[in-house]
Amino acid sequence: MTSKVVCILALLAGLACQPGSAQMDSWMSDRELATYLTRNGVAVSAERASLWFDSGVLEPEEMDAFAKLVNRGIIDIETYLGVSRSGGRRIRYFISNRVEISHSTWRSIFLPIEKVQNRTAPYLHETVHQVAPCNDCPMWFSEGLASYVQSYVSQHAGGYDGAIFARRGNRGIDQDARRWLASDRGQVVLPFVGVPGEPPDINYDRSNVAAPFYVMAQSLVKFIVDRAKLDKLRPVFEAKDFEAELKSATGKSSAEWKTNWLAKLNK
Ligand SMILES: [Zn+2]
Repeated sequence: MTSKVVCILALLAGLACQPGSAQMDSWMSDRELATYLTRNGVAVSAERASLWFDSGVLEPEEMDAFAKLVNRGIIDIETYLGVSRSGGRRIRYFISNRVEISHSTWRSIFLPIEKVQNRTAPYLHETVHQVAPCNDCPMWFSEGLASYVQSYVSQHAGGYDGAIFARRGNRGIDQDARRWLASDRGQVVLPFVGVPGEPPDINYDRSNVAAPFYVMAQSLVKFIVDRAKLDKLRPVFEAKDFEAELKSATGKSSAEWKTNWLAKLNK
């Protein structure tokens, strides 16, 4: 899960995600950065989150405001999904200009400080990965869910949608998906949506592979949530066998959901 999640987010920067790759070696590792910031950064605590920032970049009020936003985001996501993070343990956020691209690891979230500054950080998306780790979920489901919940919560509860590939959150996601389906790039990625695994080159090719994959995954998850309802999907987040649980919880397999979703988009 850890490496999977790191990979998922590394792709947003077009970075390679194999540990030890040349690209990653040139960066401070997550662990080094966490150690550095806990020693030299500015710590801000909230009830459900601990945050560390580069010092001297944001004003104290800006850091406090973001800590409150994050804290509220955690509670909103838990309320919406109907799950609570085990033991109510605080989620750790490291916010630095040394973070190239937002990502989430086993127990920490890393965000670029300039994205926090200009309110484009996908903090809700990353927080979903922490609240509902979805360990056996295929990439399309865990990424689609994180983006779907990010849009839903920012639209209905509060905070902002740090969407990267979607234009108008859940409201525009089907239109975005249709646009991709009509293109060669979308057609190349489509066979990888709704199945285990991930498209080749997703970690390297951001605009051709990651963009259509994330958009289609969010649209498909929205389609499932709209019809199956969250209550039924909840056991799927924690399932040891994703496919079996999806089928028993919703009455349909991934393949059946995908067929129905495509039929609706193609109407
Ligand atoms: Zn993600």
